[in-house]
Parts: sequence; structure tokens; C-alpha cells
Amino acid sequence: MTVFSVGQATIARVEETYGPTYRATDIFPELNDKILAEHGHWLAPSHYDAKSGLIKLSVHSWLLQIGGQKILIDSCCGNAKVKPGRPFWNMLDLPYLDRLAAAGAHPHEIDLVMCTHLHHDHVGWNTQLKDGRWVPTFPKARYVFSKPDFDYFLKQDTDPKVGPAELGTFRECVLPVVEAGRAELVTGPHRLNEHLEILPAPGHSPGHFVFNLESRGQRATFIGDVFHHLLQVYYPDWNFPKNSDAVQARVSRRKVLDQCSSSGALTFPGHVGAPFAGYIDRAEAGYRPRF
Ligand SMILES: [Zn+2]
Repeated sequence: MTVFSVGQATIARVEETYGPTYRATDIFPELNDKILAEHGHWLAPSHYDAKSGLIKLSVHSWLLQIGGQKILIDSCCGNAKVKPGRPFWNMLDLPYLDRLAAAGAHPHEIDLVMCTHLHHDHVGWNTQLKDGRWVPTFPKARYVFSKPDFDYFLKQDTDPKVGPAELGTFRECVLPVVEAGRAELVTGPHRLNEHLEILPAPGHSPGHFVFNLESRGQRATFIGDVFHHLLQVYYPDWNFPKNSDAVQARVSRRKVLDQCSSSGALTFPGHVGAPFAGYIDRAEAGYRPRF
């Protein structure tokens, strides 16, 4: 179990999956042998599988505990979701809720679920299948969703030419929470409480958020998919595929890297491999991860 402390907060990683996924050069066409050789000393084994040429990615949640509250940040893919053509997402059957319990929270103890954005791999455990219906997994929780993302995916979902949005994820993992009256739709910037503020970082999705935590003068930033891989800290213009606005995604990445390096915040990405969280330092020609 990976657990970090920031001021009075503890932040535990709850793993859904971690392993080799996509061919590195498919994801980052800019990647070449020279760059691979230059970064080889840190890429393998946590971030790259040299034998297969696949990048390693993690899908995990962060369980944040502060001031007696249990807060789940991003909720992975979830079990029993039919996603044909998506082998990493399709019909998972994983002991995620057991791992969440081992990290310190049973579903009924979660006070707040916060999704950085409404893509499939960040909202999955919001709901569970019970008697043929998708119902909220965390029955007492308030769920914080991005309103710009909600509006964007609702429009897709209700358009018969493009829906269902996110291969059905929107109506399985987002709408049931709203219909149960448990959702709070937020437009950033927004201060949630004395410890947490929500800031917009659009581009990967239209309403993508980052969450800033402050406790006793120490800071953390939960960045979701502002970058997926540490190579993007060295090369901030490298986009991971699937952005609502590729130009805006690059602008947000540089802005967040700048904020993380100047604030000294412990940075918690959504998919970066072990050790899963770390710091961003400013370097002569840009930024360097210190993970
Ligand atoms: Zn993601």
C-alpha cells in the first residue's frame, strides 16, 4: 500500500490495474531511439516495458483522509462494465472495494467522491450493478462532478448520431448518481472547503479539473490526466491521445506544471507508475519530475 502524508492529510493509493498497456510510439509519435536512450535509466521498469515497447500505466484512486472526512478522488473503471474493443476496461472483475477497505474506507464511509473529469476510467466505481440497475456505490457520499464536462457528455449522450457518450459510461456511472440526488455540479474555480479548492485545467476534456489541497502549510495537487506519463513532464507539448482540445491540453499542462513547481505541491497524477506521486522541479529548459 502506497500512503503519503501532506500536513494532517493522509493519501492512500487504491489500485485497480497497473501494467504495460499501449505501444509507446503509438501514444507518443515524437518518441524516438535517442530519447528512449536518454531516459532509459528511469523509464524501466516502472514506466516502460523495454522488452515489449509498451508504456506502463496505472489506474488508481486516491483515498484522501482529512479532518475526519474520507474523500475518494477518481473512481477508476469499475467492475462488470461492457466495453467491447477496450480490453483494459471490458468486464473487469477486480477486488477494488477490498483494496479500498484495506486503505481505510468501506463504501458507506465515503463522504465525498471527486472526479477530475468524466472519462470512463475516472468514474467507473461511482456505480455498481444491483438487481440489473446501476446504483451509487457510495450510498452516503456527495459526488462532485465538473459541470462543463457534464454538459458536454450529456449533449453527446442525447445525440443519437454520437451517443451513448463514453461507450455508455455516462449513463452507467454519472447519470444514476445525478438521478439519485447525490451529485453536485461544479464550475471552477471553486473553493470546496478550508482544505480543498477546485481549479479548471481544460483540454483533455472540456471541464477537466485539478484539486489543490492545503494542510498546515503543506500542499498537494491532484492533476487527473493533465499528464499521463512522466515523459510529458520533460516534453510538455506531448499530448496523450483523446483530447477535447489538443491545443488547450498543452496550455493547461504547462500551467499546472508551473503551479506544481512553484508551489512545491506533492503531485498526484491519475496514471503515472511507481512511486505514483512526486514533485515537479523547474529546470533550465522546462520541468523535471522528482518522483
Ligand atoms: Zn484517465
